[in-house]
Amino acid sequence: MASLTCIDCGRSLIPTARSCLHCSSDDPFGHARRRERLAFIAQVVITVLLILLAIAVNRGWVASAMLDDASRHLL
Ligand SMILES: [Zn+2]
Repeated sequence: MASLTCIDCGRSLIPTARSCLHCSSDDPFGHARRRERLAFIAQVVITVLLILLAIAVNRGWVASAMLDDASRHLL
């Protein structure tokens, strides 16, 4: 069976290992850390988008863009 390497101690483990036998890392392949990093990035992206949307609405960009679009259809 192919083996993978523990990212904490660098020793080989079977791919189904849930923790490292050598250093007792509970995330030997980094899956949980990767998931946490992706969740953090998604949170930052969503926050930035909400801030930009709030700024756009506050400055009337969304309303004026909708009005421009509506007036274009009327003419
Ligand atoms: Zn290890």
